[in-house]
Order: sequence, then structure tokens, then C-alpha cells
Amino acid sequence: MRRKQLIWRLYPWFLIIAVAVVVVVTVYSSLTLRRFYLTQTADDLKARIEMVKDEFVALLTTEEYPRIEEVCRHLEQSSGTRMTIVLTSGKVVGDSERNPDSMDNHGDRREVIEALSTGRGEAVRFSYTLQRDMMYVAAPLTHEGKTIGIIRGSLPLSRLDETLHSAYHKIALGGAAAVVLAAIASLIAARRIRRPLDTLRLGADRFARGELTNPIATSDVAEIGRVAEAMNHMARQLHDHIEEILRQRNEQEAVLASMVEGVVAVDREERIISLNQAARRMFAVASEDVSGRFLHEIIRNSDLHRFVGQVLSGDGPAERELVAGGREERYFQVQGSILRDAADKAIGAVVVLNDITRLRRLEVVRRDFVANVSHELKTPVTSIKGFAETLLEGSVTDPAELRNFLGIILRQTDRLNAIIDDLLTLSQVEQEQERAEVALAQVPLGGVIATAMEVCAYKADRKGIRLETAGNMETNAAINPPLLEQALVNLIDNAINYSEAGKTVVVEVAQTAEETIIRVIDQGVGISSEHLPRLFERFYRVDRARSRTAGGTGLGLSIVKHIVQIHGGKVEVASTIGKGSTFSIHLPRGSVKS
Ligand code: ADP
Repeated sequence: MRRKQLIWRLYPWFLIIAVAVVVVVTVYSSLTLRRFYLTQTADDLKARIEMVKDEFVALLTTEEYPRIEEVCRHLEQSSGTRMTIVLTSGKVVGDSERNPDSMDNHGDRREVIEALSTGRGEAVRFSYTLQRDMMYVAAPLTHEGKTIGIIRGSLPLSRLDETLHSAYHKIALGGAAAVVLAAIASLIAARRIRRPLDTLRLGADRFARGELTNPIATSDVAEIGRVAEAMNHMARQLHDHIEEILRQRNEQEAVLASMVEGVVAVDREERIISLNQAARRMFAVASEDVSGRFLHEIIRNSDLHRFVGQVLSGDGPAERELVAGGREERYFQVQGSILRDAADKAIGAVVVLNDITRLRRLEVVRRDFVANVSHELKTPVTSIKGFAETLLEGSVTDPAELRNFLGIILRQTDRLNAIIDDLLTLSQVEQEQERAEVALAQVPLGGVIATAMEVCAYKADRKGIRLETAGNMETNAAINPPLLEQALVNLIDNAINYSEAGKTVVVEVAQTAEETIIRVIDQGVGISSEHLPRLFERFYRVDRARSRTAGGTGLGLSIVKHIVQIHGGKVEVASTIGKGSTFSIHLPRGSVKS
């Protein structure tokens, strides 16, 4: 639609009104002026004829007609007024302009008739005698109560019109000036109306851009001022509402973001309404702004889509378990429900995902652990049972063989004992780790290392292996001495077990800016690199037979790992086949963990 500016809607009307007023006033004043002027002129003529009336009465009674004509001419010369004297019969006896004899009977002239009947006659009409428009004023001439003639004064209208025309001219000029002034004034007025409207429009534009705190300047025009105030009020309310909504949204987002559970909300077309940080992490969604996109574009998991579909149709289970692929499988416990708006209308679905991967893995670890433990225990128990049965049968009578059998039973019992001891230690360390109740104290490492070496000294001596220390034994670290001692015994024991006679095992203390490091360095068989990542797992052994002969349980290193973790540190291994291995315990420096 083509829009006309307000100014061009108002202005023509202003102008029409102004012109109409000026025209009406001009015409009216011209007419009034003309009427006034005619009345004035008539009165003037009347006064003039009144002044000379008596002179003519005298001349008429004596019938001095030539004299009358003379006086008439004389009067015209002195006053510029044409004078005519007519007898009651209508015969003209004197005229200042013409010879009376050449003039027709004037008894039919309106002013003459009026003068005879009313005593005063007036007319404005065309003069046949003079061939132009004239104004006539006539009055009866009476002598002793009897009308003996009529005196008539007249003026050419052309003179009157000249005067009037110049007046009309001035009035018209004045009118035109008034029209121009009115046009300018109404243009200014229209513009003045437009200006506050422009202010309103600019203010509304600002509001639309969201600048709600920038109010519109109120106008001194009452109506527009009220509109501005109403708009400012509306903007303030809008601002408050938006603030409130933003605050609520931020709170909601903060809650959703801080949740460990993944939350996915979709509309009925399965377009995403909200996907919280945890859910993005669970399905490795990189982009943050996904609202409005289809769920299947963002998360490629058919089980989840089926579940959402079931929730939306309202007939599926509201809870189930999902598996998500990827580099490693992840397990989710999902719960879904219909999303409803304020009017309780279903607008979509919301799904909450709990990552139960750790739980699942722990279950697997536990299952494996039970299987491993059973397996580890089964071997010595089977062996003990076998030898005990043989002995019971009484078929073995040779004392040497008997001793040998009993020796085997004892060794297997030791082995069982060792496994049970290690399992107990492991579970104890794990429990302490879980409860985080291990007290750490800053003590010099020398004492703990010396005790651990003492424990292993007999075995080392018997195997012909030298035990040595290196580094500053006075170095302090935040440790739990009995636990660290246990870890060191395990490492030194392994170093002795997997080294040949004549080799040296060194326990070294070193320090960096962040860590205190205790290294157990051997010159033994070494471990090939493919085993290193799994070395600290429970029951993991590189060489089963060798471990068994050495009295190993496969639990030693996993105990070490847990103890070091309790200290807030980490354990590492570096090894070269045939050259030896270095196990290092890294303890953090600085803060004392309790
Ligand atoms: P084990 O009781 O069998 O020694 P550990 O958990 O202590 O069990 O060690 C796991 C495996 O790591 C051992 O079976 C052994 O093969 C290997 N291992 C541990 N320490 C050393 C070492 N110092 N040199 C070579 N191999 C080692």
C-alpha cells in the first residue's frame, strides 16, 4: 500500500480551509464595503440636493427655467454632481449635462416615482441620457405643501467603481497575503505535528532493536506525550519481563549444565529444544547451538531415536538401557517422559541419560576378578587335594617320597596363603582408598626404604643379589610409612625375583620441582613393551611359570598401584628385555594430603 505522509494528508485541508476563509472574508467584506459606500454616496447626494432645494423651489415658482438650467450647470461644476430638475409631469426643466428640451419625459424613472410617493427616491441604473451607469437620489420640491417638482442629484458609478476597485484590489492583495501566510503557518503546524510523531517512531524502532532502557522523550503535546509515556511504560514492563525470563533461563541452563545426567528435550517432530552439556559430551556433539535441528542429524544412535519415538507416541517403556558405540562402548540408563506446556498439552519429550559405563565396567572387572581368584585358588587347592588323597590311600610308604609329598602340600598351602594375604592387603588398600582415610605425614624416605630393604635382604642374599641405595635418603615426602614400605617391598621383591644371581638392585631417591621419585632399578630379565600397559592389572603376569616358581601371586604390582594412588602419585615402568627394568613411584611435592 502506498503510504502518504501525515503532513500531506493534513496540509491540503489546512490550505483549503485557509483559502475558503480568506475568499469568504474577502467577498463578504467587498460586498459590505460596496453597500456601505453606496449608502454613503446616496446620503451625500441627498445632503447636496437638500442644500440647494430651496433655491430651485424659488426658481420653479417663478418658472425661470433657463436660470434653473444655469444653476444646475453651476452646481455640477462646483460639486461634480449632475443635477436634474423635473416637473411633476415628468418634463425635465433643468439638467447640468444636457439640454432639457432634448431629454425625454422622466416621469417613469424609478427615483422620480419613489420621490413623489415616499419623499425620497434612489436608484442605481443605466442612464440612457448619458449612456452609463449612474446613481440617482431624488427628492420632491414643495411649495406651500404642494409638490411642484423633483430635484435629482446623480453621480456616475464609474467614479464609485474606481474607488471601490482600488479598495477591492487592496482587499484581494490582503487576502492573497493571508492565504500565503496561512499556507506557511499550516505547513509549520503540520511539520510540528510530524516532529513528535517522528520521535515516537524512532523510539519504537529503538524498542524493536531491544534498547528497552532508552526511553522516548515525552512531548509537550498532551496526546503524543501520553502515547510516549504509555510506550515507555510498555518498554519498562517488557524489559522487566525479558530480564525475568532471561534469569529463569540462565538458572535453568545452569542447572542443566551442572547436571551429570544428559538431558535431551525434543519437540513432537523430534527437533531439539535443548541438549545439555553432559548430553553433548556423551554423544560427542561439537556444536553448542543445536536447537531446532533434528535429533537424528545431531545424534546418530538408532536405539535413542526409537526410544524417543516410543516416548512421543506414549506407548513405549519410559525406561531402558542403551549402548552407544564410538571408540569405546558406553552404556546409558535412559528415562523418558512427555514434555507438556502450561496448558498441559504434549509438546515433545524429554529424555534423561545416566552414564552407567563405569558401573558396567566395574561389574565386568568384578566378574573377571572372581573368575581369576577362583582360578588362582583352584590350582593349589587341586594340587593339595590330589596329594592329600594319595597320602590317605596309604600307597606311599617311602619316607623320602612321603616328605616330598608333604613338602609339595606345604608349598601349595604357602601359595594359597600368599594369595589370600595379597587379596586381603589389596582389599584393605582399596577400602582405605575409597574412604580416603589414609593419613600422610612428611617424613624422610630413608627410614622406609631401609626397612623395605631389610625385609628383602635375606632373599637377596640367598640369591646372591646386591641391594644398594642412591640419592639423598633425607629427602622428605608426604607418605604413609607402612603402606609405602609395602609397595617398596613388592617392587624390590619383584626385582630380586626377576634378576639373575650377581646382579644389583638399586633403590634411588630423586627430586624435581614438582615430584619426589623413588626408583627401583634392576638388571634383570626385563619386560617386553607389549606387556607394559597391562602390567599393573590384577593377576596379570608376563611369565606365569616363572612368577609361580618365584612365589608370585600376580597381585603385587596392583597393590603398588593402589598404594601410590592413595599418595596422590603415579607409578611408571620402563624396561628393556635382557637389560633390566626400572619401576618409579612419583609422589607429588608440596601439599600434604590427608
Ligand atoms: P607377581 O607376583 O607375579 O610378581 P606382580 O603383580 O608383582 O606379580 O607382577 C606382575 C608381572 O610383572 C610378573 O608376573 C612379572 O612377569 C612382571 N614383573 C614384575 N616386576 C618385574 C621385574 N622387576 N622384572 C621383570 N618382570 C617383572
